[in-house]
Amino acid sequence: MRYSALNILAQGLSGNKGWKPHWRDPEPRPEYDIVIIGGGGHGLATAYYLAAEHGLRNVAVLEKGYIGGGNVGRNTTIVRANYFLQGNSEFYSHSLKLWEGLEQELNYNVMHSQRGLINLFHSDGQRDAFVRRGNAMINQGDDAILLDREGVRNHVPYLDFDNVRFPIYGGLYHPRGGTARHDAVAWGYARGADQRGVHLIQNCEVTGIDIEGGTVQGVQTTRGDIRAKKVAIVVAGRSSQVAAMAGMRLPVESHVLQAFVTEGVKPVIDEVISFGMGHFYISQSDKGGLVFGGDIDMYASYAARGNLPIVEHVMQAGMTLMPMIGKAKVLRSWGGIMDMTPDGSPFIDKTDIDGLYLNCGWCYGGFKAVPASGHCFAHLIATDRPHGAATGFGLDRLLTGVGIVDEEGTGAQHNLH
Ligand SMILES: Cc1cc2nc3c(=O)[nH]c(=O)nc-3n(C[C@H](O)[C@H](O)[C@H](O)COP(=O)(O)OP(=O)(O)OC[C@H]3O[C@@H](n4cnc5c(N)ncnc54)[C@H](O)[C@@H]3O)c2cc1C
Repeated sequence: MRYSALNILAQGLSGNKGWKPHWRDPEPRPEYDIVIIGGGGHGLATAYYLAAEHGLRNVAVLEKGYIGGGNVGRNTTIVRANYFLQGNSEFYSHSLKLWEGLEQELNYNVMHSQRGLINLFHSDGQRDAFVRRGNAMINQGDDAILLDREGVRNHVPYLDFDNVRFPIYGGLYHPRGGTARHDAVAWGYARGADQRGVHLIQNCEVTGIDIEGGTVQGVQTTRGDIRAKKVAIVVAGRSSQVAAMAGMRLPVESHVLQAFVTEGVKPVIDEVISFGMGHFYISQSDKGGLVFGGDIDMYASYAARGNLPIVEHVMQAGMTLMPMIGKAKVLRSWGGIMDMTPDGSPFIDKTDIDGLYLNCGWCYGGFKAVPASGHCFAHLIATDRPHGAATGFGLDRLLTGVGIVDEEGTGAQHNLH
């Protein structure tokens, strides 16, 4: 079923009884060409591009819960291409271009809103760093505008510009940055993959990976064994656990990241704003809630709920930047499990086991990466060669030290030996 204005009209006139489920609910087959473990944004996008671009349709996505129940439905929805380092820069630029055509490509409203993003700076040194970043973005073909203090004030007059500790000096404005509706992205890719023949199998946890003679044979699941010529691990916060089923120890730690939303208020925040002197960022959802978050909780955990010290830190940063936020009531908070790498950049790579592929390490920023990650990972699985936009994400960069993409050193206390 194609979605269109005409279709909405026709359905409205006929009592909305003709809408079809977004995807089927198939029984797992005993064997597939490709099995993708994890029905999050990255797994679904991978399945979609395998079918849409490579004609590979004998594919199953195995999801232990429900589609959209992981981080893809828990993030703060920010989409941007404002990275500095080679490796990340071309990848996120590729992703933003895919975002810009995504709704047409999927025939699905993912509410991609290029409302602009402003990274604030609060010192001369921070300004210089943002100037370098802006130049790198422009060199990559993306957009960046340096705003002075008055330029920022024109966009966001309600911030506390004269805060004694952290006065606002200016900001790096990225007009093509913005937000998208997170779970709609999962649903759109799921629907697109299903339409092309991919099996989406929910409530199907992978409990083991079968390997013989160094070659993958398939997976064990809570719904029986499934054989596959190729198996792809795309499980975000659970990457270390699932990779361990194949005898691998990953340089990835799982950490909790929290987010918060207030009651709905009238439109006030047009852009996405990122505070430069504390880990705090904020935007306003289309429903009116102020959506904001901060840093990880700073201890490894698989619990998708956070603790109070970070709540306090985030609230303090919000009050410092925009004291008016204190008038809004926080409605909900939640946590997601982040797959943190030592250099803060991801892995999209083959493993030493034939037919076993890995996609993980998305740290704080994997939502904006969903289109390019799926696109590049599908290319790798289909052709056994890395896609040109994702050549910097090999696993061996941390073993050899060559090609580390240390964007912001966000990886936390890793115990590599
Ligand atoms: C609070 C928060 C805010 C964030 N904000 C942003 C943001 O603003 N911008 C941004 O770019 N990124 C953001 N992120 C990061 C982003 O959400 C993640 O990096 C990204 O969603 C991870 O990839 P995914 O969607 O594939 O993960 P998930 O949706 O977590 O998918 C992984 C799936 O694997 C499944 N799985 C796990 N183990 C198994 C198994 N054994 N068998 C079968 N299935 C299994 C899980 O159930 C899950 O559904 C944020 C994250 C959080 C938590």
